[in-house]
Amino acid sequence: YNVQDYLRSHIRTVPNWPAPGVQFRDITPLLQNPKVFRVLIDAFVHRYMDPHLRPDVVAGLDARGFIVGSVLAYELNVGFVPVRKKGKLPFTTVEETYELEYGSATVELHTDAVKQGDRVLLVGDLIATGGTMLAGKRLLEKLGATVMEGAAIVDLPELGGSQRLRDSGLALFTLVDFA
Ligand code: 5GP
Repeated sequence: YNVQDYLRSHIRTVPNWPAPGVQFRDITPLLQNPKVFRVLIDAFVHRYMDPHLRPDVVAGLDARGFIVGSVLAYELNVGFVPVRKKGKLPFTTVEETYELEYGSATVELHTDAVKQGDRVLLVGDLIATGGTMLAGKRLLEKLGATVMEGAAIVDLPELGGSQRLRDSGLALFTLVDFA
C-alpha cells in the first residue's frame, strides 16, 4: 500500500471551517488511531534518521507542530524547541511578525533555544501560505542556526506556500498533498 494514500484517508475535511468557503484539513484522526499515528511518525523518523539528514534540534510550530515535532525529536534522540505564538514564552525571546490575509501574527523563540551553527529541522502540521514556516525559519536564523529542512504532514500546493518556501531556499518534505 501507499503511505500517502493511507495517511490521506485518515485526514478529515471539514467544510466551511473556520470560515465559509474554507475546507479545513483536520489531522486529529491521524493522531487518534495508534496504528496511523505510528505510520505517520515513522515516515518522518525514517527520513531524518539518515546520518546526512539527522538534525541537531527539532523546532515545532505552534501548536500542532508540537505533536509531531516532539515525538520525532524523542525518536531521533535530539532536543525539541517550540516556536510559539507571541506572549507564551517566559524567558527572553526573539520575535518575527508576518502578514496574514487579514492582519498580522507574531511568533517567538527563546534566545537560548538554538546555538550558532545548529542544524535545525522545522516541523509544522500543514503548509498553507507558508507564512508561519517562513517566520519560524527567520527566527532560527536570527539566532545563527541553519534550517536544513522544513517538514509537514500536509501541503496545500494550490495556496503557493510550499513554492514560496522553496523559492526562499528552504528544502521541504511533506507526506500528503491536497490539490
Ligand atoms: P500558513 O502560515 O502556511 O498560511 O498557515 C499554516 C498554519 O495554519 C499551519 O500552522 C496550520 O496549523 C494552520 N492551517 C491553515 N489551514 C489549515 C488546514 O486546513 N488544516 C490544518 N490542520 N491547519 C491549517
